[in-house]
Amino acid sequence: MALQFIDGKFTRGNATEEIEVINPATEGVIDSVPRGTTEDAMRTVEAAKIAFSTWRRTSANVRATLMHEAAAKMRAHKEQIIHLLTLEEGKPIPENEEEFEWLCNTFDYYAELGRHERGRVLPSGEHTQLNLVIKEPYGVVACIIPWNYPLLLMAWKVAPALAAGNTVIIKPSEITPLSTLYLAEHCWNDFPPGVINILVGYGKEVAEPLVTHRDVPVIAFTGSLATGQRIASLAAPMMKKLHLELGGKDAFVVADDADPEMTARALAYAALTNAGQVCTSTERVYLPERRAAEFTEALVAHVSSLRIGPGVEPSTDMGPMIGATYRDKFETHIADAVRRGAKVLCGGRRPPHMTKGFFYEPTILTDVDKSMLIVSEETFGPAIPLMRYSSFEDAIAKTNDSEYGLGACLVTSDPLKAKLFFEEVKAGTVWINDPLTDNYAGPFGGMKLSGGARELGQEGLDTFRDTKHVHWEFSTTAKSWWYPYGSN
Ligand code: NAD
Repeated sequence: MALQFIDGKFTRGNATEEIEVINPATEGVIDSVPRGTTEDAMRTVEAAKIAFSTWRRTSANVRATLMHEAAAKMRAHKEQIIHLLTLEEGKPIPENEEEFEWLCNTFDYYAELGRHERGRVLPSGEHTQLNLVIKEPYGVVACIIPWNYPLLLMAWKVAPALAAGNTVIIKPSEITPLSTLYLAEHCWNDFPPGVINILVGYGKEVAEPLVTHRDVPVIAFTGSLATGQRIASLAAPMMKKLHLELGGKDAFVVADDADPEMTARALAYAALTNAGQVCTSTERVYLPERRAAEFTEALVAHVSSLRIGPGVEPSTDMGPMIGATYRDKFETHIADAVRRGAKVLCGGRRPPHMTKGFFYEPTILTDVDKSMLIVSEETFGPAIPLMRYSSFEDAIAKTNDSEYGLGACLVTSDPLKAKLFFEEVKAGTVWINDPLTDNYAGPFGGMKLSGGARELGQEGLDTFRDTKHVHWEFSTTAKSWWYPYGSN
């Protein structure tokens, strides 16, 4: 059994039960973890709070050195980390190699950004004065993580939070806790006890106590809209700093000048990476009416050639979905679309020859419209629903016709279309001709119901720093405008 990591020690905590971690490709048990309790959460906050009193005063240079050393140790354990990630999350090895790169590089990136500056000097009203804007850590940060990118989404919070001088409590998803616990055991042992802690268990039992704890001022959460709304309502009375990265329903627009072969590959990648279980997965596709048949044909040919299998097989293009509940919900969306008149062009079923694992064939649907769940709600699975648009303005209006606003993709060689698209689309990231490519320095996050948080870049560091203005007058003579009024 892999243990929780609290105050620098591995422990069962108060747990009396265990949670099994399941390999989604085989449905077999990989390992188990303690089912953490509210008492464990309380103890962890206490440890992180004590550690904060020293960590906040540790120099930025020392913090940076520790973070670089952690990145180096993670790289030394590359194979083991990628293997464990593949077993518990299911996506193919190349996608986990990419996630691993993000993990290590994010620690290195924020190690440097954290020692670059901690505020600014303002022009003062008088030459006898100094005005400073100081960025300071908040204290204990709760990092609540989903299962689809367990290490990348953890690093996007933990690295900037530590660099800013906060201590952290990581609550990995109960579905994928093992790779994070592995890091604590093998790569993070140089941090002082209590600076990084890992609580494992269910959201209601270990994460909600963090959300409502008065000594946890920041809740950094990535996950579903429903959980985000629950966290926001619990935290509101305490006016906590909330950093919420929620769901999406990203559109992919194909301009009428696009090349069908290139579009097919870009689109399949955008919709099917991690079996469509990416917050920025393409979930709605808009094709120009005039050339829709051509684009559809190229897409069906390409998607039909993809190989489904366990993530550990080097030949696999697409792995399983994460679990039975998620696949069931996905199948509800497919069935609803078909019942309302959609046609399945490929896929539309579990692979008949694979009796174990939560697999589902990549599925292209046409004759789709917005009355269907597959267009109106987050589907989070390997589906590509195709729709048509009449003019480019119509495509932009359709892209914006969603309660979510996480990302949006466009394929075009026309700079005027590209500019119109990125100016008019209400989404946190717009990708043109290269879907789903992020940048360490480029803020990532959503608009509308996708939540307003930003990770990565300077914005990703500022999330974890509070702002203080200092006004300092060097002269100690009384000011003429102080009481009593009228004395001058
Ligand atoms: P989820 O909301 O079910 O769980 C996320 C985390 O929250 C888990 O650690 C879970 O244990 C915890 N949790 C559950 N109930 C809680 C509660 N009441 N209080 C506090 N914490 C609680 O989400 P999931 O199924 O793990 O992840 C999939 C979702 O995450 C999708 O909606 C996806 O779009 C979203 N997501 C968003 C981004 C982004 O950057 N915007 C990135 C990845 C995933």
